[in-house]
Order: sequence, then C-alpha cells, then structure tokens
Amino acid sequence: MESSIYKSEVFDMACRQFDIAAELIEMDPNLVERTKYPKRCMAVSCPVRMDNGDVGLFEGYRVQHHLSMGPTKGGVRFHPNVTLGEVAALSMWMSWKCAITGLPYGGAKGGVCVDAMRLSRNELEGLSRRYMQEMIPFIGPSTDIMAPDMGTNEQVMAWMMDTYANQVGNAVPAIVTGKPVSLGGSEGRREATGHGVAYLVHSYLEDLGFSLGESTAVIQGFGNVGSEAAVALESFGIKVTGISDYYGGFTNPKGLDIGDALNYSREHGSLQGWRGGDPISNEEILTLDCTVLIPAALERVIDENNAPHLKCKILAEAANGPTNILADEILKENDEIEIIPDIFCNSGGVIVSYFEWVQDLQSLYWTRDEVLNKMYVILDRAKNEIEKQKKALNCSRREAALALGIRKVANAKAVRGLFP
Ligand code: GLU
Repeated sequence: MESSIYKSEVFDMACRQFDIAAELIEMDPNLVERTKYPKRCMAVSCPVRMDNGDVGLFEGYRVQHHLSMGPTKGGVRFHPNVTLGEVAALSMWMSWKCAITGLPYGGAKGGVCVDAMRLSRNELEGLSRRYMQEMIPFIGPSTDIMAPDMGTNEQVMAWMMDTYANQVGNAVPAIVTGKPVSLGGSEGRREATGHGVAYLVHSYLEDLGFSLGESTAVIQGFGNVGSEAAVALESFGIKVTGISDYYGGFTNPKGLDIGDALNYSREHGSLQGWRGGDPISNEEILTLDCTVLIPAALERVIDENNAPHLKCKILAEAANGPTNILADEILKENDEIEIIPDIFCNSGGVIVSYFEWVQDLQSLYWTRDEVLNKMYVILDRAKNEIEKQKKALNCSRREAALALGIRKVANAKAVRGLFP
C-alpha cells in the first residue's frame, strides 16, 4: 500500500524510521504494512464565533494509529503548521512510545491548524469545545483518550472534558488526561514530561561517568516540557546554561536563574525582554558547548546542516521528532554523542497520563510522590529493555527503542490474528 493522504516530510520520516526498525527485527512481511499505517483518521471543520462577531472555520484532525492493545492515546496540538500528515506521524510515535513503556494503548494524535497565541481566551474556549464536540462520535474513555500537546494546556482539557460530559450527562474525567487536579487530573502530570526527561538525563550522565555538578544543559523550548525539565535538572544539581522560546534565547556559561526565567515567562507570556542572560538565536543555541542538549520544541530542528556542529555529549529529545533522518545518520557516526530518543525520552508525559486515566477509572487518587515514583519504575524498566535491545541488535539507541516498540505492536497484531 502507498499512503497518499498523509504525504508529508514528517510522515515520510516516521515511515523511514519504521522501515529501518522493521528490517532490523526481520518483521514478517505480512505484518509490516498493517503495523506501520494508521488505522483511521478524522478530519473535521470547526466553526467558531470570533470576538468580532464573524465565524472562523478551523480544520481539525485526529489520527488513531492502532487499536490492537486497548484504547488509543495522545495529545491534541494547536499550531499553525499542523497537517494531517504531521498528526499521523505523531500518532505513530505515540504507538511506539506506549509500547516501549508497556502502556495498554495504541497511539493517537490530534491537531488543529491554528495560531492559538492569536486567539482570545473566549475564542480558544470556542475552538476547544467545538473540536471536542466534532470528535465525540469517535472517542471515549475506552476508545481514545486525549491530552495536551503544543498549544494546548490544562484549561483546554477542562473545556474539552466539560463538553464531553455535557453530551453524555455526567462527568467523565477519564475522557482526557492532563486536566486540572480539581477535575480529576493527576498530581505530578503537569511536570511529568519535563521531570521524566531530567530523570533520564541524570541516569545517563551517571552511567557515562559525568559529574552532575560539572554538567551543563541547554534547552530549546520553554513551554511546559522545556521549563519543567529545566526546573528538575536544576534540582538535580545540573547547571542550565541556555534556554529559548519562540522569540529567541538566552545563555550564560555560569548558569541561568531558571526560577526567575519561569516567573518572567509566566508574567509576560514569553521570555521576550528577559534580562537574565546574553541573547542567542534559536539556531545558535543548538550548537552551544554543553553536556546535554535538549530540543523541547518542534520537529526536525536538528538537520543535516547543524548536526555536524553539535557540541553536546548527550542529545535528550524532549520534543517529538526533533532530529531528521539525515541528521540521525550523521549523529550515528559520531561516537561522542549519546542520544536519548524522543519516544523514550519524553515518555514520562504519557506514563503519568496513563496513571491519571487509571485513577479516574477507579476514582482513587495518588500523591505526587506515588505518581513520580511509579513513573521512575517504568522509565528504569524501559531503559533496561532498550539497552538490552541495543546490544542484541548492535544498533543505535533510537533503532533499539523503535525496534522494541514496533515489535510489541506487531506481536499483538499477530497473536490477535486477522479478522474478519
Ligand atoms: N502530548 C504528549 C506526548 O506527545 C502526551 C500525550 C498523552 O499524555 O497522552 O507524548
């Protein structure tokens, strides 16, 4: 089969990664396409009453990658570059991410092509509710569970949950994760992705024999993931020497004051105008001298042009798909850089989303410590399995993670059989 609807560079990238891993594990040819391509997708148009009285129309998508191991799971992205192909690629990555961490889910992803920063609060609420309303026939707490991603947050999840609940006539907290704790959200979910990234960085730094006090981290992206990673890294004693957001970045080789940056960015909506470091561009920040580089924003920011110039020892991929295929080939030849691949590195988010869903289903809630400790157990187990796989297949860590996840999904399909 050749897929035409998802055609895009980022979908090609996800497919190429899949093909490499499928070949490594010598997958049964009859399972290859079934495992690779998304099961189904929805495209909806969302009319929204804008503040000026006009009706704005926004196109929204949801791709459910596979339904073999339980409901599908994944975030909803509000971003001006969203396409169906991008959402499909992200849904594939969610599948492998859930499989390597042992979560009983298939991957999904949703998105709306919109610049959410230009919407008023009212318009954002209208869009969030309308998107959920249009998706109601296709989702449910045991079918497909949404969560935040770029451009969406706890408040958006609250509106989505409320819209769904109004439809069915009772509160259904398990329909979305990443919602406010007051509505059945989980303690620890907000910081889970960034904290998980920092936990893995800490763990690999120790394995590789780096002293934490002498290690430095540079983070591209200061949204929920990047900022929480910065806070956690600082708490582990690792100096953060570079941060950036949409408008540009800041660096200080002696270390930045992350608490101050966070307060500033919360107050002003971005880091623009902050005076806590020397200004640096979003491109330059990637090639700063540092122990750990953490891309925590968009896809494919590390490409064939900047990959040869990276100066980090560990590349911790907090974003989904930050390294393109050509850059990955260049980095594979570079023994100096260890990669913690995206589907593993940022999996803390969906792990704690899973805990949130479980807590909602049983109406029994855990403390932040319980939640984070359970997350560490899953991350440690996945790390062991990936490192074992890496040795067994004599491949890169990314290929090992993909191979592990893809094999689990393919095995589930094989054992269920083909019906009808
Ligand atoms: N959007 C996040 C991700 O890409 C979280 C998904 C979730 O919690 O379901 O992993």
